[in-house]
Amino acid sequence: MRLVLATANRDKVAEIAVILGDGIELSPRPDSVPDVVEDADTLEGNARLKAVAIVEATGEPAVADDTGLEVDALDGAPGVHSARFAGDGATYADNVAKMLEDLAGHPDPSERTARFRTVALVRFPDGREVMAEGVVEGTMATEARGDAGFGYDPLFLPTEGDGRTFAEMTPDEKHAVSHRGRAFRALRDALTSP
Ligand code: IMP
Repeated sequence: MRLVLATANRDKVAEIAVILGDGIELSPRPDSVPDVVEDADTLEGNARLKAVAIVEATGEPAVADDTGLEVDALDGAPGVHSARFAGDGATYADNVAKMLEDLAGHPDPSERTARFRTVALVRFPDGREVMAEGVVEGTMATEARGDAGFGYDPLFLPTEGDGRTFAEMTPDEKHAVSHRGRAFRALRDALTSP
């Protein structure tokens, strides 16, 4: 099976290719396909927008994912708006700073519970879809730690971990428990089960 991935980010392509395994060949989004505006109000909706855009441009099956961070003390925010939590054009550092600020009144770890959620979706040219979700539970740290990964990784302490943030782990350690690791492993199983 060959799938076009809705991201042009080579690191993400390589990471997802490893998770999906040998039976599924992945190619990155061709440069000719423009970025889609991710303005759906759910992760599933945004993943579908990205996958459909690829199918329409290439005529080939496409796979897309969308991720949100849900913080309980912020009533589930930033969720589907995680990329632009601190405003349009926000950097990862801006978003981390805003998160620390918004949670400043909640110093106790029990008040800083959160989860990453990823929806991964394959869309075929005939309109069929296969979808999977991955979730990792954790706590938001009170200060940023670590240089690996991206986004909110310096703040995220997975419940199944050993006290390190995602940004203090190797990619393999992170994706053994991560939202994206789980979503793509579930997607692989759904695609390859008879
Ligand atoms: P996307 O849907 O993968 O583009 O993710 C949306 C936003 O969620 C990103 O801009 C990041 O801020 C955040 N995010 C997604 N995945 C991760 C992750 O694995 N670690 C930390 N932050 C993430």
